[in-house]
Amino acid sequence: MATVRIDHVSKTYGSGSSAVRALEDVDLSIEDGEFFVVLGPSGAGKTTMLKSVAGLVEVEAGDVQIAGTSMEGVEPYHRNVAMAFESYALYPQKTVFDNLASPLRSGRTGRYTAEQQRQRIEAVTTTLGIDHLLKRFPRELSNGQRQRVALGRVLVRPADVYLLDEPLSHLDAKLRAAMRAELKQLGEMSRTTSLYVTHDYQEALALGDRIAVLRAGRVVQVGTPEQIWREPVDTFVAKALGQPEINLFDVEAAGGRLRGAGGALELPAPAHLELPGGRARVGVRPRDLALGAPGGADALHLRGRVVLAERLGRLMEFSVRVGEQAGGEDVIVVADSDAGAREGELVDLHLPLTNVHVFAAGPAGEDTVRLGGAVR
Ligand code: ADP
Ligand code: MG
Repeated sequence: MATVRIDHVSKTYGSGSSAVRALEDVDLSIEDGEFFVVLGPSGAGKTTMLKSVAGLVEVEAGDVQIAGTSMEGVEPYHRNVAMAFESYALYPQKTVFDNLASPLRSGRTGRYTAEQQRQRIEAVTTTLGIDHLLKRFPRELSNGQRQRVALGRVLVRPADVYLLDEPLSHLDAKLRAAMRAELKQLGEMSRTTSLYVTHDYQEALALGDRIAVLRAGRVVQVGTPEQIWREPVDTFVAKALGQPEINLFDVEAAGGRLRGAGGALELPAPAHLELPGGRARVGVRPRDLALGAPGGADALHLRGRVVLAERLGRLMEFSVRVGEQAGGEDVIVVADSDAGAREGELVDLHLPLTNVHVFAAGPAGEDTVRLGGAVR
């Protein structure tokens, strides 16, 4: 077990006009035994971050420390980290069992008896749901099964740090959800410091003790899933979490109130808040909005026309046009039931003011920072 410190690390690939800045002054401290998730879109630098911890890329600035020791000049093999790659590699001519046993037979951890190997492999493969595949060859597996074997190869051997690069990306949605729960248990069982990267916000929220949100090589926010969800530092983070995306409205401040959507949206301005230019953006998550019955006094109310009602499994998704006279803006609402709302009808929407997010307004709708202070 070990702490991991990514100490002001920067990494550029290539040079001159073709240079790509993959990591920009990344500064993170991961605690001993922590399951730490890095969430970011494709190209954000997630794989590069893992490789810099593993020692597979050379960083140009900053330092990586494992268990308090600088890894500068330390070969990957001597870092005692185990990395699961996005593109998994298995030995094609070995069975699943032998693929899993090989990390236990070779190298620095090659001191397991046959019985110990069997026990470790059984524990990991049961958790990953691949214990019935031990005699098969990789060519006889589906992509999802292969990915789980590759993950098993990493988890089967004890290491100071597990580095996991989107290990569930090849699984279908149902299996991914099941594996999330299993992985969580495995993490709690093994308590090995883990750095897990993903572009899937649900995975991040479900698995992370803490999450770092990465954008174009920079860390935008670090926090518990609760903090990242409740208090996104900017609209980029707010939009990165939640499907469908958070609704954003441009609003203007006057007389202690914020107004937008052609007057359909009105709420008290957060106390003690400086609004640049008297303007702000208000964010409302689709799932936080309730349909029908009026909310209390501390609620934001909206009235609009249902333009689209779709069933999404157990949930309903509505597109509701508010401020129709002034052009109209569509609000997405996700609700447990249809509450009797039909396309073309007028409906009332509300949510507690504590769930309203207020951000600075940018001139061109760019991502803008959270403004402090609760609305109520
Ligand atoms: P992610 O894993 O978040 O998708 P990566 O770390 O793979 O992101 O890549 C970050 C950026 O660095 C991307 O713009 C990518 O194109 C670039 N990049 C990654 N690896 C290389 C490489 N070996 N040579 C040049 N550019 C690279
Ligand atoms: Mg990647």
